[in-house]
Amino acid sequence: MTRFSAWAVLKNGLTGNRNWQRQWRDPEPKPHYDIVIIGGGLHGLATAYYLARNHGLRNIAVVEKSWLGGGNAGRNTTIVRSNYMMRGNRQFYEHSLKLWENLSHELNYNVMFSQRHHVSLLHSPAARDAAARRYNTMRLTGSDAELWDLPTLQRQIPHINYTNARFPIIGAAVQKRAGTARHDAVAWGYARAADSYGVDIVQNCAVTGMQRENGRITALETTRGIIRAGKVGLAVAGHSSLLWQQAGLDQLPIESHKLQAFVTEPLKPLLDQVLVYGVGGAHFYISQSDKGGLVFGGDIDWYKSYAQRGNLPAVWDTVESATAIMPCLGRARLLRHWAGVMDMSMDGSPFICTTPLDNLFLNAGWNYGGFKASPASGWYFADLIANERPDPVIQDFHLDRFHQGISIDERGAGPDPKLHG
Ligand SMILES: Cc1cc2nc3c(=O)[nH]c(=O)nc-3n(C[C@H](O)[C@H](O)[C@H](O)COP(=O)(O)OP(=O)(O)OC[C@H]3O[C@@H](n4cnc5c(N)ncnc54)[C@H](O)[C@@H]3O)c2cc1C
Repeated sequence: MTRFSAWAVLKNGLTGNRNWQRQWRDPEPKPHYDIVIIGGGLHGLATAYYLARNHGLRNIAVVEKSWLGGGNAGRNTTIVRSNYMMRGNRQFYEHSLKLWENLSHELNYNVMFSQRHHVSLLHSPAARDAAARRYNTMRLTGSDAELWDLPTLQRQIPHINYTNARFPIIGAAVQKRAGTARHDAVAWGYARAADSYGVDIVQNCAVTGMQRENGRITALETTRGIIRAGKVGLAVAGHSSLLWQQAGLDQLPIESHKLQAFVTEPLKPLLDQVLVYGVGGAHFYISQSDKGGLVFGGDIDWYKSYAQRGNLPAVWDTVESATAIMPCLGRARLLRHWAGVMDMSMDGSPFICTTPLDNLFLNAGWNYGGFKASPASGWYFADLIANERPDPVIQDFHLDRFHQGISIDERGAGPDPKLHG
């Protein structure tokens, strides 16, 4: 595998860029693996990488029904942050952010992680108090956090509707180490690095059924034949319930909803931060890509579906939120929009856990915040699969937490998946 460096770029440039190697192999699936991860999104690929890198395991496959990054991995708005407060979430997302900070070096692949500040607007004294509590917790637990007053915010981001806003803006809660990254590059970087340890990445290989014996999965039925597996990890995001049923299990506390993303035509530099606005039913987040397009999104589409396309009321709603906060966006032309299928859990928090089957492990429930989580998710899921016990950081990320009354509901929104983001 080519090691990327300034020298490699120069050398290949001088030879007409004809000598770059494939970034990962395209192997035929073997009849048996010690571990099969289902789902070649960010979480599946990161898991395979950390299984090899942290635990020395090698006989591993990732099976993906289409192409790498064709799911939510390549459809998200790429916001990375760790501004969580609840025990477990806090440590987990901060660990993830720390992994992000070194990811390009770790993978020898430029994931274009840009720490450009995550700025959440505040619209009332009550919101400011809540933010102070959350952001102080972040500081006390080793992260970075700031509250900006109005003059500071106006200096940093002049284009917001300060004078005629539907909801008055009184300041912002800011995490400076947060930012964005290039989603495809993260998938490719993990794939390439996992492949270099001998992990087989098998694309166009859908799991269509699971064979069970004595409380274990023995083999996976796939569109490329039967694959026997010692252990199986599910990392299929919005399709988790379908695979859960294939395993002969009952119901997951997950609903599959779709979420849309939008990109405008390329514009001159307008916004240097990730800006978030959410109050009174409005929800909107926006950043500007390196190519100049404004990348933004809002709420989920509010009905369950496996379709990777959105509906017009959600477009309307998002665009209303956009122009309410940044009226100048009304002049920008929308270039593209699409949807992904989100695995929305009852408390907005994930599952990285064992299951009723001895050798089946679950990674799901990322709602629409799983991009930033992917490094830590892969890290802890690999640890769970390798050692068959959860690390203390993810001890509450299990399916029984609803029965046990464990609360990691960051928003305090209650058991309605639609309300969690
Ligand atoms: C519009 C949008 C905006 C978002 N914005 C953000 C954001 O700004 N920040 C953030 O942190 N998160 C964001 N997210 C959420 C984030 O993208 C997801 O939580 C995360 O990508 C999910 O994990 P994944 O990458 O592993 O999922 P996916 O990429 O969906 O991977 C799952 C894979 O499983 C495969 N699969 C399914 N069924 C089978 C089968 N039977 N056999 C084999 N393979 C199968 C699918 O093809 C898919 O490739 C957003 C999501 C969307 C859609």
